[in-house]
Amino acid sequence: MRIVVCIRQGQDGEINPFDAAAYEAALRLEGAEITLLSMGPLSAKDFLTSLTRLGAKQAILLSDRRFAGADTLATAYTLSLAIQKLTPDLVVCGRQTLIGDTAQTGIMLATRMCFPVITNVMGIHTVTTEKITCHTRTEGDVTVSLPALLTLERIYALRLPRLRSKTIECQVWNADDLGADPARCGLAGSPTRVLSTRENQSGRRRCKWISLDQLDGILKESLSKEAQVTEKDTPAALSLPRVWTVGDAPLEFAPSVSNDVTVLPFASAEELAERIRAGAPSAVLWGSDPLSKRLAAQVAAQLDLGLCADCNSLETDGQELFMIRPALSGSVIAKIRSIPRPAMATVRTTQTEGSPLVIAAGFGAKEQMPLIRALAEKYGADLAATRKMVDHDLLPYDLQVGLTGKSISPAVYLTVGVSGAVHHLVGMQRSGTVIAVNPDRTAPIFDYADYGILAKAEDLAPYV
Ligand SMILES: Cc1cc2nc3c(=O)[nH]c(=O)nc-3n(C[C@H](O)[C@H](O)[C@H](O)COP(=O)(O)OP(=O)(O)OC[C@H]3O[C@@H](n4cnc5c(N)ncnc54)[C@H](O)[C@@H]3O)c2cc1C
Repeated sequence: MRIVVCIRQGQDGEINPFDAAAYEAALRLEGAEITLLSMGPLSAKDFLTSLTRLGAKQAILLSDRRFAGADTLATAYTLSLAIQKLTPDLVVCGRQTLIGDTAQTGIMLATRMCFPVITNVMGIHTVTTEKITCHTRTEGDVTVSLPALLTLERIYALRLPRLRSKTIECQVWNADDLGADPARCGLAGSPTRVLSTRENQSGRRRCKWISLDQLDGILKESLSKEAQVTEKDTPAALSLPRVWTVGDAPLEFAPSVSNDVTVLPFASAEELAERIRAGAPSAVLWGSDPLSKRLAAQVAAQLDLGLCADCNSLETDGQELFMIRPALSGSVIAKIRSIPRPAMATVRTTQTEGSPLVIAAGFGAKEQMPLIRALAEKYGADLAATRKMVDHDLLPYDLQVGLTGKSISPAVYLTVGVSGAVHHLVGMQRSGTVIAVNPDRTAPIFDYADYGILAKAEDLAPYV
């Protein structure tokens, strides 16, 4: 079976973690003939060559200054030309890169290739010459016909090379080798433009140190206050005409940029693309659930539109939509515009149902889950988890809060044993009152907490 694994080198020079999972998943398939494929600067050639030691039969770097500055659509176009030449049975991509964080390229690539796609893959079950079945994080087991494209969710550890394994020299293909249209590559072919970036300071709070004895009182007081939660959207002073949302979820954001909003029902990507082509709205907003994100990327690839992922606010001057989103794993905030119309964005909607108190268990509380559950029961709280807890199978994925989980905004968010990685913070920073329990005074979570308690999870025992 011929498999193309799409790889990107991270800013740290290492393989993007989700792509490492993709490569490892491909290496585990019997009879796999793997080609590594990457688009990037010439400096990535040695990086790809060294990765062939793990078992890939060839590595191809798509490198040309005309490819520089590509957004997800232009990247998917360029990669698709190489894949057309390679005619694989299977393409395996990481779910997302840590640089772009969009989780769009794989889906757009599949759409361009007319391949069925399975996203959020946790493991490959069975492969025949005609079909592949994968276990996914979001939809259970999914089977599609080959050729197909997978996006890998789980961070498998990539194997180490054998001592005497040999490298295979990476080939370099340029725009002419691919027969690429330069107007569709790189910055020239990218419908989205980053207008500005700034350091992400949102969600920072002044932490007041309290003792465990005060926890019960602070919890009750915070819960009795009305949840200050989401910044309420005021009606748009400057309004974009004809803004469409797919489903109701983006209505949390749409009124901030338009007084003329229409909700489309969910449909297939082809049907939605047709409606958007015919209706020519000025903007289309999508939710951040897996189905909306997949449909949005498929429609963008079908209509050659820009798509800005995971926006946490929107602005307008009445003429155009400005999409604001965290980038570089949440460390910066970028302001983005789309050149073609409609502008399209997925918006980071927050789940508001459930208990006003959520208790998040982090890896520091991994041995104290009975205690955390007892605490949740005492206060009628819902549980939440960090990704590390989920990756270690200590809590289920539907409890995961953060960049690759859900966003929530309860009246009170109590964390126990959570360090406060940016990836976690983006999912909880719209909470009302934040209380953090952690023995490490330097843990970043305290910069995002209203109350801090320097204690271990096990110290909570007398309080449940
Ligand atoms: C692309 C990408 C996406 C990601 N998406 C998410 C996401 O959606 N959500 C998410 O949460 N993470 C996500 N992560 C992972 C994230 O970067 C962190 O690794 C993760 O949030 C850390 O989880 P943690 O706080 O439970 O564990 P750790 O970072 O290991 O922190 C454990 C904390 O427990 C404290 N501690 C130690 N002992 C005790 C004790 N006895 N009692 C109490 N505390 C103790 C420690 O001081 C430490 O601060 C993502 C990472 C990547 C690369």
